[in-house]
Amino acid sequence: MTGSGERGIKTARVGIGYDSHRWCDGRPLVLGGVVIPHSWGLSGHSDADALIHAICDAVLGAVGAGDIGAHFPDTDPAYRGISSLVLLTRVREIATARGCRVVNVDATVIMERPKLRAHIDGMIANIAAALAMDDAAVSIKAKTNEGMGFVGRGEGVAVMAVALVEPAVVT
Ligand code: MG
Repeated sequence: MTGSGERGIKTARVGIGYDSHRWCDGRPLVLGGVVIPHSWGLSGHSDADALIHAICDAVLGAVGAGDIGAHFPDTDPAYRGISSLVLLTRVREIATARGCRVVNVDATVIMERPKLRAHIDGMIANIAAALAMDDAAVSIKAKTNEGMGFVGRGEGVAVMAVALVEPAVVT
C-alpha cells in the first residue's frame, strides 16, 4: 500500500458533505443503513440514504477524491437500489488508498418527521462498521427545520456532515 506521504496527504484534513432527497411514496425510509418505519420513503437511484451520501462526500472531500456522483454515477444500473453502506465501505477504501484513515464523523439530519432518536444508535453502529471505526468516533444528530423551507413543507430531507481524516500509520 502506498503511504500517505507519497500521496501528498501529510496532515489532518477535514471534509464537508451535504445531501438532500425528496420524499416519495412506495419506498422504505433508509437512513444510516437503518430501515425506519414510516408512511413514505425517499426517492433516489440507490436506497436514497441521504445520511450515508453526505458522509461519503465528507470523506471524499477530506481526501480530495471528488464526490459520490463521480465514483458511483446514478446513470449506472449497478448502483440501482444498492445499499449506501456498500458505497461508504468503498469510500473508506478510497481513503485508505490515499493513505488516510477517518478519525471521526459528525452529521446532522434535518427533517420534520419521523423522530429519529430511537434509531440513532443503529445508524452509528452501521456507519462505524462501514468505516472500520469505533462507534464513539461517529456522531449523528437530528433536527427539525422549525417548519421552514423545503424540509419544513415536507418536501424532503437534508443532511450535513463533516469528516476528519489523518495520514494512516504506515507499517
Ligand atoms: Mg444522495
